[in-house]
Amino acid sequence: MAIEEDREAARSLAAVARLAVVRASGGNPAARTLAGRGRSWLLGRMDRARRAERPGTGWRDSWSRERPGWRERAAYLSGNEVFSVDYQVCRRCRLGWVEQPSTVAKYRRCGLAAAALAALRSENPGIEWHTLGGHLADSVPFWISVGAGIPGGYTQRDPCPHRHAERGLNRFR
Ligand SMILES: [Zn+2]
Repeated sequence: MAIEEDREAARSLAAVARLAVVRASGGNPAARTLAGRGRSWLLGRMDRARRAERPGTGWRDSWSRERPGWRERAAYLSGNEVFSVDYQVCRRCRLGWVEQPSTVAKYRRCGLAAAALAALRSENPGIEWHTLGGHLADSVPFWISVGAGIPGGYTQRDPCPHRHAERGLNRFR
């Protein structure tokens, strides 16, 4: 079954979420001038077209294109993005936020989201984790299960003064 093989690949990817992370180079687009940001938007589109710095299969950490100043952690299978979540951490306040983890439909329930959140926690010890809120009703069980025993529990919390409040544009899925 091709679909079962794909899902098995997604489960394997979830298992290496703490290890196989490619960090994309480049500056923080939010820190650039307006003209620079326009150029960065254009380059971003080209980058997307070329899939530059994207692993064929693995995890990628890069600046979020939807939320200025946020990072994005994404999973790829055979060059296709199958999962992504935006996050940011304030070391001064020891607070972290994650927003809108989204998984391509056929890879849901393979553990990608939980593995990505666990990897971010392990890379950022001592951080209390939150979301900006606005969970859809159908995602409440996910947050309860993934937040159990976690400092902060992924409960709603507004950004601290040092971090970015932007909720970003609507995701394409
Ligand atoms: Zn702060």
